[in-house]
Amino acid sequence: MYRVSSNTRTNPMATFRYFTGTEQLTNIWHDQSCYVTAKHFTGLTADGRRVTVERKIERKPNPSMHKCDARCLNATGFKCECSCGGKNHGAGAFVCEAA
Ligand SMILES: [Zn+2]
Repeated sequence: MYRVSSNTRTNPMATFRYFTGTEQLTNIWHDQSCYVTAKHFTGLTADGRRVTVERKIERKPNPSMHKCDARCLNATGFKCECSCGGKNHGAGAFVCEAA
């Protein structure tokens, strides 16, 4: 296991955020497998539980911050530019709220 920086060295222009449900996780660790999909990461919730990451969201350095809508909620990709900061991105059933 190793600590994952929020800024990746391979792509310094993008920032990744890690979510389970609509909660952004901190203290992200990777299982050191050759896969970098969400389920291979764990992170800490606000109340200190370590959980498996459900969604890994890529943020551009200058996101457009457009109003979050159904396209974001139902997104299947992992790049989010809208005002939710990735919180709602691909979350489907969750109600949109500002970050
Ligand atoms: Zn959004």
